[in-house]
Amino acid sequence: MLFSPNVLFLLRGVPRLLRCAAMSTVTGTFQLQEALNYREGTRTEPADGDHMEDAYEPATGRVIGKFRFSGAKEVALAVQSAQTAFKIWSQKSGMERSTVLLEAARIIRERREEIATMETINNGKSVFEALLDIDVAWQTLQYYAGLAASMAGQHIQLPRGSFGYTRREPLGVCVGIGAWNYPFQIACTKSAPALACGNAMVFKPSPFTPVSVLMLAEIYNEAGVPKGLFNVVQGGAATGQFLIQHPNVAKVSFTGSVPTGIKIMELAAKGIKPVTLELGGKSPLIIFSDCALENAVKGALMANFLSQGQVCCNGTRVFVQREILNAFTKEVVKETQKIKIGDPLMEDTRMGALINRPHLEKVLSFVKQAKDQGAEVLCGGNTYVPDDPKLADGFYMSPCVLGNCQDNMTCVKEEIFGPVMSILPFDTEEEVLERANNTRFGLAAGVFTRDIQRAHRVAAGLQAGVCYINNYNVSPVELPFGGYKMSGFGRENGEAAIEYYTQLKTVCVEMGSVESVF
Ligand code: NAD
Repeated sequence: MLFSPNVLFLLRGVPRLLRCAAMSTVTGTFQLQEALNYREGTRTEPADGDHMEDAYEPATGRVIGKFRFSGAKEVALAVQSAQTAFKIWSQKSGMERSTVLLEAARIIRERREEIATMETINNGKSVFEALLDIDVAWQTLQYYAGLAASMAGQHIQLPRGSFGYTRREPLGVCVGIGAWNYPFQIACTKSAPALACGNAMVFKPSPFTPVSVLMLAEIYNEAGVPKGLFNVVQGGAATGQFLIQHPNVAKVSFTGSVPTGIKIMELAAKGIKPVTLELGGKSPLIIFSDCALENAVKGALMANFLSQGQVCCNGTRVFVQREILNAFTKEVVKETQKIKIGDPLMEDTRMGALINRPHLEKVLSFVKQAKDQGAEVLCGGNTYVPDDPKLADGFYMSPCVLGNCQDNMTCVKEEIFGPVMSILPFDTEEEVLERANNTRFGLAAGVFTRDIQRAHRVAAGLQAGVCYINNYNVSPVELPFGGYKMSGFGRENGEAAIEYYTQLKTVCVEMGSVESVF
């Protein structure tokens, strides 16, 4: 999930923060001090669990603290906490829920810099981007607060004055399991519609980014949700499995990789629990020769290098019509080389650190493999060591553009989840559509062209849940978001999400006598 054009609009009107000097003192100083689980309206140490995990600051490579993974007992307590709150919350009117969510949105907005700073410390992305993420987060709460009061069923007339009606009812305790690339935003994307519909939630963040979601839990509490409505358990796969298997969990909303999504669906199937799966991608971005070149270049950078390239819907297969291949490649390389890498807490940094050392090495190994398979590294693709000595152990790399790519190369087929763009020439619309769709993924896709009919024809032909025309990686909360094929199913954002956090009850009312067949 990314940012919304609404956010950019807002930012233009707000004088940006002067954080260069002040923030440079923060990098390398933060230490975790408080418990990282949250239940019954308070931070708590987990009741069980043997495994202790290090939390990192990717910008410096420093361990900022340790925390305990939750076991089955803690998971059961968190679910119990949510069940108790659900009984109160589900009885409130939509307007009452709306009022609380709006207050939570207001507090997030008020604390946006503090939350963004924490996100940057624990995730490594630039604070510039983290601020955009936090703005999307409060907008998400505002949006679902708006929908909470207007959720309604249907009234259907039947013969002889009888009638039926439908009620949209909450599911109960919903589990949210998040990825590490948008920690705070993912927690809001899942919890806002869940809570608006009258559900309670237990959220498990990625063990790589355990910190910022606690701020959300505290904000919900401050805004006035019943104690226990939003709970946080920390842990990895085992904790996630305890959650999914818990008999009192009604639904699982997952954001993460395809292999984990498969396991989650299998486990949820055993309890016939509905799942929403927001999974990975290898999305195509198609650039026709009649495009506005400058916009297409900007779009390609947006499609590849936000959050150090660690974005699910990134358009990493950049198909360029042969007539403009040289001009496009030259410009894209030039602009990529200008990206400012470094201390993510500095206001002018545009690319921070990747999430951790193993992931950095994995991304670099994709670049090496691409070279071995015949791709040409046009720029970047190396570890990057910022001048500031306190950043020397951070997980930085220079953004990479690969030329001379072929459809069957690993870098073109697999999700890299790092700042690596592959450029692929094409000749005709028919050919490029077939190649773009030749993947097991189907999360997003983009097309740049000035030909309005072609733009819509190509968007209609692309096998992807989200298609961008003449832009890429904007994700306003008003629009549904989700994948086709192995990129998952179910939708987040937009009115569509309501369907995934409610169940429909039909009430059939007889106004006459019972006409029995017996
Ligand atoms: P991941 O699949 O490794 O982990 C995601 C979450 O699942 C983590 O919280 C993890 O602890 C948990 N988990 C792992 N194994 C589990 C199991 N067996 N049972 C229950 N929970 C388990 O993914 P990641 O590395 O955190 O995130 C990167 C992936 O997420 C990429 O593939 C990316 O494309 C995808 N992603 C998708 C979206 C989207 O909206 N479609 C958004 C962000 C990221």
